[in-house]
Amino acid sequence: MDGYDPNALRVEKACEAIRACLKPIEGIEKVATRSALGRILAEDIVPAIDVPAHDNSAMDGYALRAADLAASGDTTLKEAGTALAGKAFGGTMGAGECVRVMTGAVMPKGADLVVIQEIVKASEGKVVIPAGQKKGQNVRYAGEDLKTGVPVLRAGHALRPADIGLIASLGIAEVMVKRRLRVAFFSTGDELASIGSPLGEGQVYDSNRYTLHGMLTRMGVEILDMGVVKDDPARLEAALRTAAANADVIITSGGVSVGEADFIKAMMAKLGEVLFWKIAMRPGRPMAFGRIGAHGNAAYLFGLPGNPVAVMVTFYQFVRDALQYLSGRTGDYSQPLLQVPSAAALRKVPGRTEYQRGILFNEGGWKVRLTGQQGSGVLRSMSEANCFIVLEHDRANIAAGEPVSVQLFEGLT
Ligand code: AMP
Ligand code: MG
Repeated sequence: MDGYDPNALRVEKACEAIRACLKPIEGIEKVATRSALGRILAEDIVPAIDVPAHDNSAMDGYALRAADLAASGDTTLKEAGTALAGKAFGGTMGAGECVRVMTGAVMPKGADLVVIQEIVKASEGKVVIPAGQKKGQNVRYAGEDLKTGVPVLRAGHALRPADIGLIASLGIAEVMVKRRLRVAFFSTGDELASIGSPLGEGQVYDSNRYTLHGMLTRMGVEILDMGVVKDDPARLEAALRTAAANADVIITSGGVSVGEADFIKAMMAKLGEVLFWKIAMRPGRPMAFGRIGAHGNAAYLFGLPGNPVAVMVTFYQFVRDALQYLSGRTGDYSQPLLQVPSAAALRKVPGRTEYQRGILFNEGGWKVRLTGQQGSGVLRSMSEANCFIVLEHDRANIAAGEPVSVQLFEGLT
């Protein structure tokens, strides 16, 4: 790798390095269409029918032939019958005739436009059509949504609600998807207390496992929660072996900072290949990445820092992308960076990428401001935020009103 320096690795370099090591999982399974939300397609979806299957009316009104319309002024036609959604007009529509149609009704043979009911005068079987109607108006054509034989979704696509509906519109009840990625995770630290028990002298509650559980649940992976592991080489090794034997990916928090990393380095070297990085970012500087094996299985390891905000930042900037790639997702699923003016001046030191916690708000236009304290242990800053303010590697201090990159926490689908 060009410019690879494990002691001041740029965020983009770390992303590239991780990506270069990953190989997507191969297992696939069949699931009911309704249960496929968030799953990664393992097959192309190719329509066996047109959607809609027939030309049909887009409105309530009258179907008729453009050729029957007078060159100018009103046209009077004879009403020959009715077509409802799901109940076609059985007869034939002769010259000078029209058929009453409801939205979704199959177009009567010969009809090539629909006039909405609001503008016609109908009485005693006669229908008066005003001038100004055009051939093809208010008609939905067979195959205008989906066409037989033309693939609509490709293998590698992550299914969203619209896709689930689309697959259903083809009458497909089951789809082949990638199996779920298995992710094992645990917290490390002698100071960690479990929630629901009293807090001892010098202890902190283990919150990282809960934020990780939440982030992993949202990603739809299979979760293996291995609890808290003490800062003890033998226990850590045992936990890593169990995780490597049972999961595709292992995520740990804590224990990768300078003071702690040494004994872990030695122990991990026995299990596989793990790199200890200092990434030029804030928060989230120390991080380990590698691959370890046990009992004939191997798993990727992400050793995230212990600070609660750093865990979330490194998860979103490195792990999220890796999990999606490993799950078999293809295409571009990077998070967009929007340019939004900063409501106030921001301090920034060039030479590292910063992920400040921001609130995007609308006050005569969208702007972004910081949540309060930005310390990497201040989890409230993530809870209050609705976005990251991403201050790129080379940027220096930002003046009020200057645009900054914003990465949204929530998406619509
Ligand atoms: P470490 O990376 O292990 O040196 O931890 C850095 C900081 O994060 C320390 O203040 C730890 O107490 C804190 N920390 C580590 N793990 C957790 C956890 N699971 N939940 C909450 N805080 C943690
Ligand atoms: Mg620790």
